Amino acid sequence: MAGEFYTRVSDVALCQRCPALLAYMLHKGEKSAWRVGIRGNGHAYGSMFHKNIARVFFEAASDRGNPLHFRIASSIPGGSESLGALVRERIFLPFMEESSGRLETGQVMAMARGVDVWVRAMSDFFAGIPSLMRWPEGNMHTVFIPPEQKLQGSYGLPDGGRLIVTGCYDALMFNPDRAEARIFEFKGYMKSDIAVPLSQSLVYSWLIWKNTGVIPSVEIIYLDSAGREPDIFAPETVKAMIRSGLPGLFSSAYGVISRGRFPEILRDEKLCSACKFRMTCRDDWGNN
Ligand code: SF4
Repeated sequence: MAGEFYTRVSDVALCQRCPALLAYMLHKGEKSAWRVGIRGNGHAYGSMFHKNIARVFFEAASDRGNPLHFRIASSIPGGSESLGALVRERIFLPFMEESSGRLETGQVMAMARGVDVWVRAMSDFFAGIPSLMRWPEGNMHTVFIPPEQKLQGSYGLPDGGRLIVTGCYDALMFNPDRAEARIFEFKGYMKSDIAVPLSQSLVYSWLIWKNTGVIPSVEIIYLDSAGREPDIFAPETVKAMIRSGLPGLFSSAYGVISRGRFPEILRDEKLCSACKFRMTCRDDWGNN
């Protein structure tokens, strides 16, 4: 029978990779199912970058009372060079000093690269906001949104069921001069795992669209992909992908979460070959 079920953005993204993996996590207590097939330093590493570097920046940029706020304002017109110097000196290096004993050399290098790529990406975005470049102090509050705001959206299924999706995006910025927005997602995955972060970002984009009426562009920064530029998806691309991909994905997630039907077994050769459930999943989930 149709009902109302709550879920998280990360669970919907896991369902996109394999509905049976979501079923293992939710109904058989396999908490590490999300890790199947993910290479690179993984989730912990991306969230370390986000929590200790990007979030510190966005908290300062969105709060006039923060000691770093006006330093950021004065560095914005100088482009990626001055903004990069500030981020390295005031955020990245203090974090490294505090935690270098816990990090491997490869992680430190990747984070330093991630800072460069991310600062360049932000500076490109700022260059398209004349009001910010003219007077950063007076316009930062219209550009920077406090990080990790919780969003919620409701999706109605054809059979009357309802999926309530909640999640906190990594970082969001607005361009008030063009009524545009951009989500940044920081990933410790390698770029070859594109479907993983993109599906998650599409669900966040849908939530932002529902909550603000604006469809954001999406920029995914890969900390483990040396020398590779981030992926940027324009709002029209994001809109088309939301329309073509999310109804089926929400329906599939709803089926798993509600236990309304057996999860589909996707038979993705590459993913399945790396999966610890490959010998049992057909039997565990209805042999479909
Ligand atoms: S073996 Fe393949 S289909 Fe089965 S749970 Fe793992 S990834 Fe999913």
